[in-house]
Amino acid sequence: MISSVFLLASYWYLWIMIIAGVLFLLVVWHTKNFAYLCPGCGEVFEVSTLEDFISPNGVNKKYLRCPRCGKRAWADILRIKEKTVHKK
Ligand SMILES: [Zn+2]
Repeated sequence: MISSVFLLASYWYLWIMIIAGVLFLLVVWHTKNFAYLCPGCGEVFEVSTLEDFISPNGVNKKYLRCPRCGKRAWADILRIKEKTVHKK
């Protein structure tokens, strides 16, 4: 029992890789399922996984550059509902 715990602890870097992998998949999932609403011009746009990963998050908001008006602002996060509608 003790040796198995010790073995688990010695593979800590493996756990970090797994956690990083899960975190990355979560961001990919988030990118595919959410869109953003520009508060300046009302444009609804999607971002790349990398941009989603590096951009700062707020409460239901994300700091992004709008592709239409080019301004950086806290964009509202919108759930993309089209995909779930098509499945029914
Ligand atoms: Zn805009």
